[in-house]
Amino acid sequence: MLIELQSHSTHSDGQLAPADVVAEAAKAGVTTLALSDHDAVAGVAEAMAAGQELGVEIVPAVEMSCVHEYAEDLHICGYWVDLEKIEPTCERAQQERRNRAGEIVDNLRGFGFDLTLEDAIREAGGADSIGRPHIAKAAGATGDLGPFFEEYLVPGAKAFVPRRWPNAEEAIGLIREAGGVAVIAHPYWDISAPGEVDDLIRSLGADGVETFYPTHSREQTVHLLELCDELGLVPTGSSDYHGPTHKTFAKFGAYDTYGLGEPRVPAKP
Ligand code: AMP
Ligand code: MN
Repeated sequence: MLIELQSHSTHSDGQLAPADVVAEAAKAGVTTLALSDHDAVAGVAEAMAAGQELGVEIVPAVEMSCVHEYAEDLHICGYWVDLEKIEPTCERAQQERRNRAGEIVDNLRGFGFDLTLEDAIREAGGADSIGRPHIAKAAGATGDLGPFFEEYLVPGAKAFVPRRWPNAEEAIGLIREAGGVAVIAHPYWDISAPGEVDDLIRSLGADGVETFYPTHSREQTVHLLELCDELGLVPTGSSDYHGPTHKTFAKFGAYDTYGLGEPRVPAKP
């Protein structure tokens, strides 16, 4: 059994088409996979068809970006969402992304960068969800985008514009209204202070927590497992696959369970 409850395709910031993500997963021995594109579900049907052919169970999913006082960019995964019901939410989030991208582009132009929103949209290619990495590339950043992000695109940096909608509570509500289960994605990726992670998980009332994740340390994994146990939440896990040459997330089976337990798949409501 290899459970991978997050992966990304060209519908957001992944490198491969949905069917190719599933094919790579099958090769890596993944038994249960979620294609969890950022604010997009347009690739899920293709993934499900490929999964049927290749013998990989596909959990329909979306990864929603939202805001929270502890994180400018918090991610909540919705599993088992009804694709038609969640679609208007994705469309609104995609429009909000284009609006925000336009504001960031304007800011960058103010710092002398020669780019337009159309350049950033072109950089996003066929993606439904434009994001800051596309903007960075349209501004001329190449290779490791980290330094460009640090100078211009992270909270507090020169050209940063915060996301305004939805907040974390709204995202969870929207996922549930679409018949889904809400799981807080990789908490220690977005937040580093254990006290804040603790408070976030206790206060949000989600259904699960992505406990097993490549960047989570043993200590962080222990903390998340204890919280899941105490609060009755489902511990999930993923390697957050973004494609074969992605800088950070390029392999399935990359999370460490530290022998502490195994990820679980939230039951369909
Ligand atoms: P957005 O969807 O516009 O909020 O952009 C989020 C994406 O930006 C993340 O999924 C990362 O791929 C990327 N990102 C965020 N922070 C950094 C950083 N410090 N360095 C490089 N990439 C980053
Ligand atoms: Mn994420």
